[in-house]
Amino acid sequence: MRTQLKKALLLWLMVAGMTFVGFQVGRLVAGPLFAAAAADAREQSSASSDELQAFAALEPIDTHVHAFKSDPAFADLMARLRLHVLDICVADTRRSFGDLATETARAEGFVQASQGHARLCVTFDPFAFQQKDFAQTTVKQLRQEFTDGGVAVKIWKNIGMELKTSDGRYVMPDDPAFEPIYQEIAAQNKTLVAHVAEPSSCWQPPNPDSPDYDYYKENPQWYMYLHPDHPRKEVILAARDHLLAENPELRVVGAHLGSMETDVDEIAKHFDRYPNFAVDTAARMEYLMIQPREKVRNFLIKYQDRVLYGTDLEFLNSEATPEALKDWRDTYARDWKFLATDQVLQYKSRQIEGLDLPEPVLRRIYHDNATHWIPGIVATSK
Ligand SMILES: [Zn+2]
Repeated sequence: MRTQLKKALLLWLMVAGMTFVGFQVGRLVAGPLFAAAAADAREQSSASSDELQAFAALEPIDTHVHAFKSDPAFADLMARLRLHVLDICVADTRRSFGDLATETARAEGFVQASQGHARLCVTFDPFAFQQKDFAQTTVKQLRQEFTDGGVAVKIWKNIGMELKTSDGRYVMPDDPAFEPIYQEIAAQNKTLVAHVAEPSSCWQPPNPDSPDYDYYKENPQWYMYLHPDHPRKEVILAARDHLLAENPELRVVGAHLGSMETDVDEIAKHFDRYPNFAVDTAARMEYLMIQPREKVRNFLIKYQDRVLYGTDLEFLNSEATPEALKDWRDTYARDWKFLATDQVLQYKSRQIEGLDLPEPVLRRIYHDNATHWIPGIVATSK
């Protein structure tokens, strides 16, 4: 009962606040929402509410999350941050998220509970690629999932790094087996989200300064430095580039800075060559932080219509909600500080000065690019 009362009071405060500033635009809108939010002690976090207010004012879209648990607290968070997300399914045969059917069902549950704030990015099992009706069956499945609201399709790093033919050849993302699927995605005006290859550090000796050091320590099966018999990064990315060239009508968002994380010039070259290609920033913001500030800033300004904000944040079935909420808020606040302000951030032993990007550029990265590259990601932007 107490909770009910508190909720009613919060709601009233929010409605009153919104009415009060109803005719104002921009940053002001988010203010009263946060005043109300701050009243909820459970929601206190170390994240600065200033950053989150400014973030919320842009109606941000996070184009890369993995949310496989439903909790009304997350719908609340998204409503307060005016946040939309793309919830991405991953065909991980090592089952880190559960089997694909379970994972997809959980993602659908999250989307349904999101009150319009989340859309689904579906996937398919590439390991079936040698089955007789693979393309036909997959296309049929995708059509149904698009009808059910899916707006994008993910391919994952297992294509290029794990998947093999029966005679032991590694299967690349441009394999003809996948071509009918790519054509269908383009024909349906959906988007391919392509996590292809890995950061370069995956093929290099362990380096505690690398942003990915812990990941490869915990996931040695994906640490290619330990598996020199697997394909090299250049080979896998060349296949990705071939896919881009062969499918000019297909919009492709390269997840994780398109695995060209160490040098924005490399991404720029790809943007110049492939008009159907954009990238997301998921789990690679650190790589933008450690490159020369002016170079990164100029890159983001010049290619402001090609970079989509994404985080790789997770909300897993095994996770406690309060920790996940804190993680999401802290990440959004930190990224905002880096992209939008000139404040100094600490990253490992380094001091990083924020990029202080102009507001029109921030609007594109945080909102407009997502609706352009992934139509339907916000329900009203079809
Ligand atoms: Zn991801």
